[in-house]
Parts: sequence; C-alpha cells; structure tokens
Amino acid sequence: MRRPPAGMRSHRQLRHVSRLLRHRFQRAIDTEDMYPVDVDGFLVRPSQHATVIPKTMAKAFRDKEKEYKAPPDDRIYCRACSTFIAAKIDAAGRVKCNKCECQHCSKCGDKWFEMRGHVCRSRDEQDAFKGLEQGKDYQICPSQR
Ligand SMILES: [Zn+2]
Ligand SMILES: [Zn+2]
Repeated sequence: MRRPPAGMRSHRQLRHVSRLLRHRFQRAIDTEDMYPVDVDGFLVRPSQHATVIPKTMAKAFRDKEKEYKAPPDDRIYCRACSTFIAAKIDAAGRVKCNKCECQHCSKCGDKWFEMRGHVCRSRDEQDAFKGLEQGKDYQICPSQR
C-alpha cells in the first residue's frame, strides 16, 4: 500500500498532530523530566508550531525553559510564593518576583530587605569553594613533578 504524499495529510491526522504537540508542550511545562520536547527524535520549539500552540502556552514554555536551563543550585525561587525568578549571577543586585513582586538577591537568592540592606549569607561558603578549586588546579599537571 502506498502512503499519501506528506502534503496530503488528512484533516484528522493534522488534528491529531496538533493535539499531540499541545500535549507534549504542556507536559514539558508541568514536569522538567518532559523537557525538551521532541517528535521522532527531533527537537521542536513552540515557534515552529505557532499555528497550533497558543501564545500563552508558548510563553509559559519559554519561561519554564529559562528555569530548566539553569543548574538547580543556581535557580532563584521566590521565598514567598515559590515562583522561579531567574538564574543566579555573580553580582549581587535586586531581582523581583514577577508574581508577588517580592525582592531577592541575584547572587545568593536570599530575600532582599530594602530597609536593613543586604549581605549575601553564603559568601563565606563561596569563598571557601573558590579556594578549593584553586588548590585542585595546583595539583594537576603531573609533568611538572
Ligand atoms: Zn513571589
Ligand atoms: Zn545576596
């Protein structure tokens, strides 16, 4: 039996594919394990399927993607409402939760209190870690022994 050419897919098939895509993107938004979205081994983006993926879903997917792409230790979650805010950066500054507008520190992820000023709580730990990394660098290179 011969298959119909790709351009002649029936309406039913197209409806099925659209539903499948929406389902896949929604699952990726809900669960990190379901990210990224692929169809038959090919990665797909909401922008490639703008006719079947609603704009709100595409936006939710892009927001989640920012979260998933940041290593778990580097993610800043709102201390008040658990919404993902941003990935940590090396400089301390204020980042605001989009949902409840609560201010956080872009470096340590802690809550940022305007009135008392902010000191990164984990700075000592970070410095200790840097020391360790340096020590490791000195130890490698066996040819110098
Ligand atoms: Zn919040
Ligand atoms: Zn901080």
